[in-house]
Amino acid sequence: MASSCSTKTDLAYQRCINPTCGHTLSVDQAAFACPECGDLLDVVYDWDRVEVPRRLSDFEAKWSDRLNPLSFSGVWRFRELLPFAPPDQVVTIGEGQTLLQVADKVGQYVGMDAGRLMLQYEGMNPSGSFKDNGMTAAFTHARMVGAKRVACASTGNTSAALSVFCSATSFGFKAIIFIGSGKIAYGKLAQALDHGALTIQIVGDFDDAMHRVRQVADRLGIYLMNSVNPFRLEGQKTIMYRVLEALAWQPPDWIVVPGGNLGNSSAFGKAFIELKHLGLIDRVPRLAVINATGAQTLDQLVNANGVTWNNGLPDAEVTQAYYDHLDAEHLKASTIASAIEINRPVNLKKCLRALDFCDGLVRQVSDQEIMDAKARVGAGGIGCEPASAASVAGAKRLREEGIIAPSDRVVCILTAHQLKDPTATVAYHGTDQENFEKILGSRGVRRAGFANRPISVANDLDDIIRTIALYSEPNA
Ligand SMILES: *Cc1c(COP(=O)(O)O)cnc(C)c1O
Ligand SMILES: [Zn+2]
Repeated sequence: MASSCSTKTDLAYQRCINPTCGHTLSVDQAAFACPECGDLLDVVYDWDRVEVPRRLSDFEAKWSDRLNPLSFSGVWRFRELLPFAPPDQVVTIGEGQTLLQVADKVGQYVGMDAGRLMLQYEGMNPSGSFKDNGMTAAFTHARMVGAKRVACASTGNTSAALSVFCSATSFGFKAIIFIGSGKIAYGKLAQALDHGALTIQIVGDFDDAMHRVRQVADRLGIYLMNSVNPFRLEGQKTIMYRVLEALAWQPPDWIVVPGGNLGNSSAFGKAFIELKHLGLIDRVPRLAVINATGAQTLDQLVNANGVTWNNGLPDAEVTQAYYDHLDAEHLKASTIASAIEINRPVNLKKCLRALDFCDGLVRQVSDQEIMDAKARVGAGGIGCEPASAASVAGAKRLREEGIIAPSDRVVCILTAHQLKDPTATVAYHGTDQENFEKILGSRGVRRAGFANRPISVANDLDDIIRTIALYSEPNA
């Protein structure tokens, strides 16, 4: 693969995260892995030469500049903190208009004091998930390097975002998506098909699709849009900037996020490392990354095997032994939270760095806990898909363990929209027992404790009126 060492005087460049390698590339290259050692790449900035606002509140000036698409975007209004692209190369579709909402009903479920649990709702993005934050940055980089064909492996939301960015822009991008067979929620598949992506369903799961798309991208020179792409993580840093913005620039005590491929948690860590380095925050929130039971690699490596960042040299043998064990036992990731149904998280190392810097921790929650939390999130006013609810289930767990205090300020990231996966929701609330067994019971979900059952009534006015009288007490 072509590799030219850039001069380190560039404002932005790419650098291998392995400290014993440290190979650098310029930002006009598309590599997706270190050409020397194969490790992950970071986008790095020479902050001494970047003009960064003196205080985070200086970013408020962008609010009155909303007719400029770069200031309207919830990603690019923080462009001084991801300065890798010439402004005229930015590819934006208005992503990142998202909401941080105090959610007291959900907070009560989690065990928090009033006003202390907040939901960062990334379902408001154009494609309905947080992935748009990363896509706008990666598409900008693709444009910078002249790429036209762009590909990803996906459990659904990455491919949805990719498809939307290709179809909503006119720079000639063609979307190619790889999905595992039967492994994608209908809402997400519908998006890829509707937006015109070349959709390749391979026999296998996400980890298989990921393996293949890397090979194909390498062989055909196609631009890779998975979160091994370090530019995606630059865009996803801004989720944290918007959380801070919504809290008048005061860091919360906790950020709780679901962990799949670990791109988000990695990006959040990088955001805080940089903000601290720049003196823009004086306190760093703690980070909790939540796996689903059935896809708990991070939890196993960190909590059962003691793997840590270790100054950039995490114990590779322990990790390899864990993967060998998965292979030997033919263990495939399996959870109702399909967006985090991943056993080989590509950003593992970067996530370990984030956990190290943010005094972080990891938990796994069951499909039962996820579905119950999801129902409470829905009843609290904002719908989300199962994977998103892992954050709320994780916060509840950490409250019960006494690690999160009721008075802490906790931000749970709701990664995607409720309508992404209606199958799981209808199975949980519906009255069709067979359907419940097939979708949820088979995964060990025993109760739909918070089900809001539809009620069947004869087509008879008196019956209907009686039923309404029986069931329509106003909420307390
Ligand atoms: C992609 C995704 C995740 C996992 O995020 P990672 O960055 O891969 O850890 C979680 N929830 C939803 C809804 C997603 O689409
Ligand atoms: Zn390297």
